[in-house]
Amino acid sequence: MSMLPDFRYIRPTTVADAVAALVASPTAVPVAGASDLLPNLRRGLGNPEALIDLAGIAALSTIEETANSWRIGAVVSLADLVEHKGLHAVLPAIGEAALSAGGPTHRAGGTIGGNLCQDTRCMFYNQSEWWREGNDFCLKYEGDRCHVAPRTSRCFATYRGDMAPTLMVLDAKVEIAGPAGTRMIPLAELFADDGAAHLALAPGEILTVIEVPKADRLVAHYAKLRIRDSVDFPLVGVAAALKRDGDKIAVLRVAITGTNSAPVVVSLLDSLVGHPWSDAAAKHLTDRLNKTAKLQNTVTTSMKYRRRVLLATARRLVEQLWEQAV
Ligand code: SF4
Repeated sequence: MSMLPDFRYIRPTTVADAVAALVASPTAVPVAGASDLLPNLRRGLGNPEALIDLAGIAALSTIEETANSWRIGAVVSLADLVEHKGLHAVLPAIGEAALSAGGPTHRAGGTIGGNLCQDTRCMFYNQSEWWREGNDFCLKYEGDRCHVAPRTSRCFATYRGDMAPTLMVLDAKVEIAGPAGTRMIPLAELFADDGAAHLALAPGEILTVIEVPKADRLVAHYAKLRIRDSVDFPLVGVAAALKRDGDKIAVLRVAITGTNSAPVVVSLLDSLVGHPWSDAAAKHLTDRLNKTAKLQNTVTTSMKYRRRVLLATARRLVEQLWEQAV
């Protein structure tokens, strides 16, 4: 590991001050736990002029229940999500996803906002500076060529956050604060399918709140496949939410991580609504997953293996929810 680069440390106490600091210093990076950012900086990945520590903003560290939703501040830790009894009683999938991320120390410092916004990953990118220099770097950072797909001009680095798919199937929205004020967007719109620029945030904008609607009788789970069962990024991660109306599906949403440059909600599942879960429904789901997932080889596993695991996991997860839902 290399030394950290020089940067200023700014600790605002209001969102307005954080936005002003980011506008004043466009290469600055907002952080809270920094569990994703600091290892990257030590590897020479990035050279921000300042880090803006959002952990001092009390308004972003609370979990509030409103009449129709749960509002989770962006700097709420993953450990607090796991332990929040009120949230866990009605939306256990959120704690389930948080518990799957990292180890206890990562969860104590890592935040829901940081987990959502974490950088994409690639075996040619998450390496030491001398290793990357030996490869002439790559176009995600300091280079001009992609080693995964040399004939393309885009980066296919993979998004591997654990919280996003679960929050997506729960229909979460996110509040974004910026120089033009505050806006609320569906969580899926926070992401762009580009490994080198996977967050659709305008200059000066900061993710501040995640809002999850209350939903009657919706059951959800997150399943994560990884090499090491304690601390690891997902080979693939699948979240699903299902609601039954008697012997018919009333709601079915499936989202995936570890496959594309952004977490993705699997589209065109609406045709399953109004029908029971069946082998034909499972085939439609796996066909849609096959078309959606853009898997690459990793250091440890082949693309083919991960695709098979993805399809089997998704099918098993929805079967489980179908049995669980009433
Ligand atoms: Fe670099 Fe992205 Fe290509 Fe990986 S996929 S080698 S990070 S440009």
